[in-house]
Amino acid sequence: MTFRAGWNFLMTPGPTNIPDRVLRAMARPALEYAGPDFMELSIGVHEDLKRIFQTTAEVFIYSANGHGAWEAALCNTLSPGDTVLVPETGQFSNSWSLMAESLGIISQYMPADWRHGVDPAVVEETLRADTGHKIKAVLMVHTDTATAITSDVAAVRKAIDAASHPALFMVDTIASLVTTDYRMDEWGVDVTIAACQKGLMMAPGLSFTAASDKAREVGKSTTMPRNYWNWQTRRGAVHYTWYCGTGPVNSIFGLRESLDMIFEETLLGAQARHQRLADAVRAAVGAWDSAGSFELNALVSDQRANGVTTILIDEAMKVSELHTLCRDKFNVSLGYGLGKLKGKCFRIGHMGHVNEPMVLGALGSVEAAFAMLGIKHGKGGVQAAVDSLAQAC
Ligand SMILES: *Cc1c(COP(=O)(O)O)cnc(C)c1O
Repeated sequence: MTFRAGWNFLMTPGPTNIPDRVLRAMARPALEYAGPDFMELSIGVHEDLKRIFQTTAEVFIYSANGHGAWEAALCNTLSPGDTVLVPETGQFSNSWSLMAESLGIISQYMPADWRHGVDPAVVEETLRADTGHKIKAVLMVHTDTATAITSDVAAVRKAIDAASHPALFMVDTIASLVTTDYRMDEWGVDVTIAACQKGLMMAPGLSFTAASDKAREVGKSTTMPRNYWNWQTRRGAVHYTWYCGTGPVNSIFGLRESLDMIFEETLLGAQARHQRLADAVRAAVGAWDSAGSFELNALVSDQRANGVTTILIDEAMKVSELHTLCRDKFNVSLGYGLGKLKGKCFRIGHMGHVNEPMVLGALGSVEAAFAMLGIKHGKGGVQAAVDSLAQAC
């Protein structure tokens, strides 16, 4: 491995920086998987996740990444041959839709331009046209990490209600949770999908579904084969069944610590911090663009994500050189363009365990890399970020 001095600034939108407190919390011997100590810890974590999702719905924890929770949401509520409506938001709606199809579900994909959030009017119109109620669920990505766009969950709920449509409403909050306001119950979400390695600051490997009573009831009569993911069998007096086997004990130690950190900061405090940092990054992009060619991918300002910024660039800029230089020279890891944005953008993740100096350091490194690579840009990106932070703090 190449030697790189100092801390790695992991400015990718997942995985994210893991706090020392969380790492240390995990460095302990495991516990008996069905003993009273683990049960108490595990039940507490399940309950506290409900506070993060703002729900009273049942939460299920998987030893899996976000893709696992996607699959859990689909196979617990749908049958092969069912139709789902998937509004396109970016690479992550694409991938979730393809996963649904691979399970024998028909995806009615609602195409969009990757520059705007979900249009609730189109959702409403599509559901109104579905008079036979063939559509069984609406699958929405809250923050699409490829486009750095956050869509309005409450507005999509209103659209479903306005069409008087019984479809389940499922929301992927993997990139939005903790960085952005999210209220599962108030917004009438039936299934929330989340993972631990983004806003939750944890080592990758855990994911979550929260399932409303309606979703669990519907799921009792669906026929998708499922076993490990099955909500119906993941409860009971024997704690072993909550995890369909041995619980990921040390990951739960880590998650306990990260939840404690979030509650110490408060959820509102964490959201405000993410907003501040996102504004600072966007201010820098504005300065770079003043004498260069940089554009925020998200066209609508109040749809710009708190946890990640996607910056469109001139294709001649050789974005891969920018990545390599930032990583090798400055120990700063940036996000690549995904899907159809590959080679056309870079992304700066600012989610999870991140603060003002980390963002300023990353922006300064990017600016130095621009200069070294001869990439035309307006100077003063860091200064613009400093000004933005000074105003917001
Ligand atoms: C990261 C991410 C995923 C995928 O999560 P994995 O843990 O990599 O499987 C899905 N959806 C969104 C919105 C994401 O940001």
